[in-house]
Amino acid sequence: MRQNIVAGNWKMNNTLEEGIKLAKEVSAILTANKPNCKVVLGAPFIHLTEVVKAVDSSLVGIAAQNCANKESGAYTGEISASMVKSTGATYVILGHSERRAYYGETNALLKEKTDLALANGLTPIFCIGEVLEEREANKHFEVVKNQIEEALFHLSADAFSKIVLAYEPVWAIGTGKTASPEQAQEIHAYIRKVVADKFGASVADNTSILYGGSCKASNAKELFANPDVDGGLIGGASLNAEDFYGIIAAF
Ligand code: PEP
Repeated sequence: MRQNIVAGNWKMNNTLEEGIKLAKEVSAILTANKPNCKVVLGAPFIHLTEVVKAVDSSLVGIAAQNCANKESGAYTGEISASMVKSTGATYVILGHSERRAYYGETNALLKEKTDLALANGLTPIFCIGEVLEEREANKHFEVVKNQIEEALFHLSADAFSKIVLAYEPVWAIGTGKTASPEQAQEIHAYIRKVVADKFGASVADNTSILYGGSCKASNAKELFANPDVDGGLIGGASLNAEDFYGIIAAF
């Protein structure tokens, strides 16, 4: 059966020292209170090697927040999937709405990044989600289907089964507005159907679909109680160990 996962996305926050401290705090809390879900920390590239060492790997996995769409070579400033893998990180967040909006990441580019992440043995946490105007125009189903179709439908069922999806309505990210449990369940069930129609019911049943967007300890329980919500991708509330644990403890 699919795994429940709570993944933090630190974004561009924390110096190296602060990142190590936070990772150690999360690991210590989880050592004392064994989680009922997989826990992942999405750290900046330069933190990866150190936060991998700072946590108990049986309790916490480490994710990069991006990787390049090229294998290696003359791409100044880029970090490849194999470089991420060499740090000991095992996940990579791909297609976050901030990457799509501020760095022009398209579904075609994300398809390349996904292929390289998988080829290097990383688990992509692949983000999808609509902006407010699309939700208001009732286009959210179409938008997420298109994102999955264009970036992931070329994969074999076996390759797709290694992907974690994160549904993140852009209007809920960092805004304090959260999708209602009903809105989350409705679209997560739809996403699972899109996956089932393409890759089969068994792959769909085994795909973890996380919710992201102003998820916090006070709303995590009712969001995660939905049958098709398998955890969360957490931004702001992952920057404090106690707040983050409050969400993990919802499982
Ligand atoms: C995110 O950026 O993935 C996110 C969900 O952010 P926040 O929890 O701060 O809304």
